[in-house]
Amino acid sequence: MTQEAPEQATGDLVVLRGVDKHFGDLHVLREIDLTVARGEVVVVIGPSGGGKSTLCRAINRLETVDSGEIVIDGKPLPAEGRELAALRADVGMVFQSFNLFAHKTVLQNVTLGQIKVRRTDRKTAEERARGLLQRVGVEAQADKYPAQLSGGQQQRVAIARALAMDPKIMLFDEPTSALDPEMINEVLEVMRQLARSGMTMVVVTHEMGFARSAANRVVFMADGRIVEESTPDQFFSSPSSDRAKDFLSKIL
Ligand code: ADP
Ligand code: MG
Repeated sequence: MTQEAPEQATGDLVVLRGVDKHFGDLHVLREIDLTVARGEVVVVIGPSGGGKSTLCRAINRLETVDSGEIVIDGKPLPAEGRELAALRADVGMVFQSFNLFAHKTVLQNVTLGQIKVRRTDRKTAEERARGLLQRVGVEAQADKYPAQLSGGQQQRVAIARALAMDPKIMLFDEPTSALDPEMINEVLEVMRQLARSGMTMVVVTHEMGFARSAANRVVFMADGRIVEESTPDQFFSSPSSDRAKDFLSKIL
């Protein structure tokens, strides 16, 4: 019998232990310990510059870390090569700026990774892409280019593109911050549906309504540290740190 890694046994999909990261003299991640269970939705909240984006990028290995351990589904993050590409496909990421391929159609944006990384044949990839575009409500835009779409539509395509890789976890880094207000909800609704479908998610957002309604857990991050983590109810009604109280008093 093969021995299971402890993370698999406990159902933890992402485990960070003692993760540290500097940019030059700037200490951006300080002793980060974070565990995300399978099917859990963790919302990361905190002031600008606190290290939230760096944390997401470290989980996806878009940034290296100085020390500590990052384990995805029982496997330590590989440094490079084919294994890293496979890992990235397991960790879907949606950014604030939509990051679609401008010179590819919507459909091509959603099939490209499937064909290149997952080695799916074109026909299967296109069928899957159309299904996902329908799921996020932009199937009518399949043959258009990103610039012909609204910001909300582009961000929903970005979500479909990430889902096309059949990821184990989805990371969202302020996915609605660059959107016009009337488009925020259509993106949040897709994210709520995804959460309800059981997807494991880490979401950096300033949308407190989303945090209250969709999060299993809120992680408050400031100055490179996880200052507190609790249920949304607890966090919003009685935050325990002064740092969080101060932050909430400014945004609520
Ligand atoms: P947040 O997403 O919470 O606003 P970030 O993770 O983007 O925070 O940034 C944390 C700190 O690291 C900030 O002070 C930011 O200016 C700095 N930083 C982020 N990326 C880089 C980089 N590539 N080089 C140097 N400093 C960076
Ligand atoms: Mg950020």
